[in-house]
Amino acid sequence: MSILKVARMGHPVLRKAARKVEPAEIKSPAFQKLVDDMIETMREYEGIGLAAPQVHEGVRLAIIGIDEGEGRTHDIRVLPVINPEVTPIGKTTAEDWEGCLSLPGLRGRVVRPDQVQVRALDRRGNRVEFDLEGFPARVAQHEIDHLDGVLFIDRMKSLETLTFIEEYSKYWTED
Ligand code: ZN
Repeated sequence: MSILKVARMGHPVLRKAARKVEPAEIKSPAFQKLVDDMIETMREYEGIGLAAPQVHEGVRLAIIGIDEGEGRTHDIRVLPVINPEVTPIGKTTAEDWEGCLSLPGLRGRVVRPDQVQVRALDRRGNRVEFDLEGFPARVAQHEIDHLDGVLFIDRMKSLETLTFIEEYSKYWTED
């Protein structure tokens, strides 16, 4: 496995819509390696999700991380999704902080639907369908946005909360 280079804001690959993955492609060693490398890259840089365009691959593949750890243990379960579609469930929205490995050092508040259904293929090419709520729902929407060339700053209603991490820790956190 290898740690991949992460594209930063300004690289055109982040602004292009990614192409659909052909089901026949999924089982190829190259595609499976990309999935493994993306998981390794996400863990290395302590991301909670990663989309293929962020590692310069214009395909509809994303890793959704679900933090199952409690307190100080960070046990991140990874869900690779291929050709994912996300649909809001209900009308409830939530506002929370987001960051992105492609916008290092920045945080901003984004309003998104709080509950979503994700339909995709898994890394074996099987159809999967699951519901997410709260932060994992946010991660899924953020990652799937990347497949359409959309960054979290595009989703901010106002740039007033766009903050560097240092100032975020200083002025925007309770503890
Ligand atoms: Zn991102």
